[in-house]
Amino acid sequence: MSEEINDIYYNGKIFTSNPEQPYAEAMVVREGRIFWIGEQKDLKTIEGNYIDLKGRRVLPGFIDAHMHPLLLANASRQIACTPPITNSIEELLEHICKKRQEQGADKWIEGWGYDEGKLLEGRSPNRWDLDKAASDVPVILTRTCVHIIVVNSKALELAGIDRNTPNPTGGEIDKDCNGEPTGILRENAKDLVTKIMPVPTVEDSADNLVELSTKLLAHGITAITECMGNTEPIDYFDLYVKAQEKGFRQRTVLYYQWKEIDKNSSIPKEKLSSEKNIFIGGIKLFADGSVSGRTAWVDPPFLGDDENYGLPTTSEEELLEAAEFAKENKLQVVVHAMGEQAIDLIVDTFYGKSGWLKDRPSIRIEHAAMATEKAIKSAAESGIAFVTQPIFMYAEIESYLKNLGLNRTKKTYPIQSVLKGGVQLSFSSDAPATAWADPSNPFVALKSAVTRVAYDGTDCGEEHKVDIATAIRMYTREAQKVTGIAEVGQLVPGYHADFIVLDKDVLEISFDKIDEVSVEETYINGELVYKKL
Ligand SMILES: [Zn+2]
Repeated sequence: MSEEINDIYYNGKIFTSNPEQPYAEAMVVREGRIFWIGEQKDLKTIEGNYIDLKGRRVLPGFIDAHMHPLLLANASRQIACTPPITNSIEELLEHICKKRQEQGADKWIEGWGYDEGKLLEGRSPNRWDLDKAASDVPVILTRTCVHIIVVNSKALELAGIDRNTPNPTGGEIDKDCNGEPTGILRENAKDLVTKIMPVPTVEDSADNLVELSTKLLAHGITAITECMGNTEPIDYFDLYVKAQEKGFRQRTVLYYQWKEIDKNSSIPKEKLSSEKNIFIGGIKLFADGSVSGRTAWVDPPFLGDDENYGLPTTSEEELLEAAEFAKENKLQVVVHAMGEQAIDLIVDTFYGKSGWLKDRPSIRIEHAAMATEKAIKSAAESGIAFVTQPIFMYAEIESYLKNLGLNRTKKTYPIQSVLKGGVQLSFSSDAPATAWADPSNPFVALKSAVTRVAYDGTDCGEEHKVDIATAIRMYTREAQKVTGIAEVGQLVPGYHADFIVLDKDVLEISFDKIDEVSVEETYINGELVYKKL
């Protein structure tokens, strides 16, 4: 019989995320799981490796309940169209010129993260701008919200888009006063271009994910979600399996885009187990666009345009059809919704209907930026969870002020109302769908949640601040609850020993310095998987 090896961590300041025993000083890890946790004086003398935590703060590993790891991984190969790298359209064109010279004539030029509010010219680039920098190869820039793209004339030509092309359902091809497409494609219209793009090989994408894994471990992220999974031409399940074989470490939940799913298929049961390192958690739909892109389906309309209520991108019928499929396959329904009308559509559609999953909410609303009191009440009564992103207002404050005005901005992401209303809530990053150079950093989100002050100092509404312990729980324990990843998110006996050790005490540091905290060590299953040099 093999002997059990104990790792005994002592002299720590452990925050467990477990409300029944929030703090501890020591912990015993055995076979990858927490065997015991408590006060130092209660620690019995046992054999094993003794590891001195040297008084440092320990937290459960972060769980990012909503992100796009493959987009984030691939973004590192693209032009970053966001400050401090790109501050104007002029600079953007220089980057494109340079890329064209580096890449040659047979490759698409790609960029991510532009936000017209942050560009010096105060407007979005269009096809004619991009043509000046590169006209012989297709150029595609994805807006920070990931719901809007801008392409050059070559890309429009390859996609067969001209003045006669009608808007697809749930999408808009922007046209100028002469009826010519401007290159800006909104919501479903962006698929006209993205579907003809060359697809990176599974090997390349898996390698990019492995590289990303280390960056996420350095942020203390031990579990992630992929919220934009495809089945064709690459099945993301196979892709993440391959990435894990190559060294990708995070526990992973995959959500397939509903529009990508073969409605007559069924998901193999062995891919559904939340005990596995990677499992299929649900299907993803979109009910609207974004606040920053003025495509969220809002009511009242956007500031300065009484006609613009944004863009609905789903229907009650589609939501019910997706829910039927989800029920049969034991999946979650995960719906992107920012505006009041989009959120109302979801809660009204599912109000009073009982959920079908036992280990997590059957319905999740992603972002839930402008949930009304009535929607919060209905969601709580129907067991619908919200997954929100404190980094949005922090990073995209220019767009929020421009599109909503200050008073309405202060009422978005009504965290305290959501918590008091009894809705299951979790934080996450949505990286890279935000205009921030390091979008997956949880400490930026924690700072934003406890201060409600944007990066430029704008007060985003004090009444919806939360305390730091609550904010951490939203990124650990509550993120576990909404994703259903088995036995993580709290440091309690029996759970996986996924935890992080910090260089500064995030619970004691002044709020404006929370984003200066960094991770010194990250452990998964009790194994040291990252150590800061
Ligand atoms: Zn997203």
